[in-house]
Amino acid sequence: MSSQPRTSAADSTTGVPTPTRGRRRGRATGPSIPLGSLTQREHRSEIQCQACGSSRVTRLSMNLTDGTPVEFTSCHRCEHRTWEHGGDALSVDSVLDKARRV
Ligand SMILES: [Zn+2]
Repeated sequence: MSSQPRTSAADSTTGVPTPTRGRRRGRATGPSIPLGSLTQREHRSEIQCQACGSSRVTRLSMNLTDGTPVEFTSCHRCEHRTWEHGGDALSVDSVLDKARRV
């Protein structure tokens, strides 16, 4: 006769899987942009490829090796890639240079 202890359902307060909270979409706004210095775009959410104008792009926020936060945009259509920092487009050379030299 084996007395099996009944395993109660996980009841402890520890080990509770925490759901991923917070939204990781949108809100890519960095520093506030001074009014008047930029022409306002109608929809900032509509990102377009700077080469072919396609809106099928992937946008990522990343930091370069030297700590510069940049917005990386990759086009699905023509594979054009751009890096932007503070609204200014960075050339591939400067990005590579930043990534190389620390
Ligand atoms: Zn493109």
